[in-house]
Amino acid sequence: MLSLDYLENIIVDISETLKNKDFREALESSVPMSEKRVLDFLNLHKDIPKLAKEVEEIKNKVLSNIDYYIEMTMESLKSINGNPHYAETKDDALDILDKIIGERNKIILSKSMVAEEVGIREHLEEVGKEVWETDLGQLLIQLEKGKPMHAIAPAIHMTVKDVINLVKNKLNIELKGNETPQQIVAKIRPFLREKFVNADVGISGANAISADSGSIFLIENEGNIRLVTTLPPLHIAIAGIEKIVPTLIDAFKVVLVQSSYAGLYPPTYVSMVSGPSSTGDIGHRRVYGAHGPPEMHLILLNNGRKEAIKSDILRDQLRCIRCGNCQIFCPVWDITANKWGGKVYGGPMGVGWTAITEGIKKGAELSELCLGCMRCDAACPVEIPLSSLIHRLKNIYVKPK
Ligand code: SF4
Repeated sequence: MLSLDYLENIIVDISETLKNKDFREALESSVPMSEKRVLDFLNLHKDIPKLAKEVEEIKNKVLSNIDYYIEMTMESLKSINGNPHYAETKDDALDILDKIIGERNKIILSKSMVAEEVGIREHLEEVGKEVWETDLGQLLIQLEKGKPMHAIAPAIHMTVKDVINLVKNKLNIELKGNETPQQIVAKIRPFLREKFVNADVGISGANAISADSGSIFLIENEGNIRLVTTLPPLHIAIAGIEKIVPTLIDAFKVVLVQSSYAGLYPPTYVSMVSGPSSTGDIGHRRVYGAHGPPEMHLILLNNGRKEAIKSDILRDQLRCIRCGNCQIFCPVWDITANKWGGKVYGGPMGVGWTAITEGIKKGAELSELCLGCMRCDAACPVEIPLSSLIHRLKNIYVKPK
């Protein structure tokens, strides 16, 4: 049976959200534009849906043989002097992280849903490290002590005024109150510059990982990921095992499809990281740590994913490339954002991801708010049958009359 407490809590939370004028204004001013941007782009680029179909097949192939591809990824990374790790649970991931980081203190993060899933920022703060998010949206979430409200745009629920207040009050950056987004960004830039330059450790996620080369791929517009992965002397990437694809070319396909459906095509930067920085220029011998980090680690996280591969309800969710398009298309998410969600993941994709990472009961509870309109199905580039997945989760907990 579903927990009535849960339903009561979420209904109270959402009705408070609906009364919050700023929250609604922020969503209403961005969501319709985002939906149109993706549709217009896809109308002009008929090759992208074909590429998405290829990505769907690539992902299915990996899910059918996940242990083989995990092993291949780890061996490939070792062969290029990187350090692979496998974490069965969130706690394992934190233990691995603590051991790698050791006494180092200043840590910068780039936006990563898996880092949120594991609770990396909170954990490192608890153990006394100085931690800064460097993606601007994610920095605002850190300052707000909230959770990301969208897979790509974590601070989509904040108005410009909200941002000004946060930055003024939490970062002590002088602002008059009438600044434009451009002016706010210019004020935050020097603040983060100092964090980039002095960091001991940079932690990133990964949008795709190629098993044949051990490379990780990262997409962004801000430029912070490049700095997080190259300036500090230690780079640690963390990603779910479902991010693995067989080849480097496959990973490029994921990058193109994800950025297209996220409305970010072409992404300003695509970074490929294949192990630590090195040079062979002096004495014709390869040495590590030229201008980038001499040490690079990759933590591959399970946290329920392998179990989900065996589940005929949840398996399809693992194809998700986290473009966030289903969220933008969903009429429920359009007014609640990730308030309708688990600890991290929200909206249509968030129901399945919550079931995978927090347990099937939590996912089933979330499914209660779905209207069954099926808009999310059409929005998903890799044809995850989101509405039927949600419907099947709901059925698990509906008591037969
Ligand atoms: S079927 Fe449910 S999750 Fe999908 S778009 Fe409609 S309301 Fe949202």
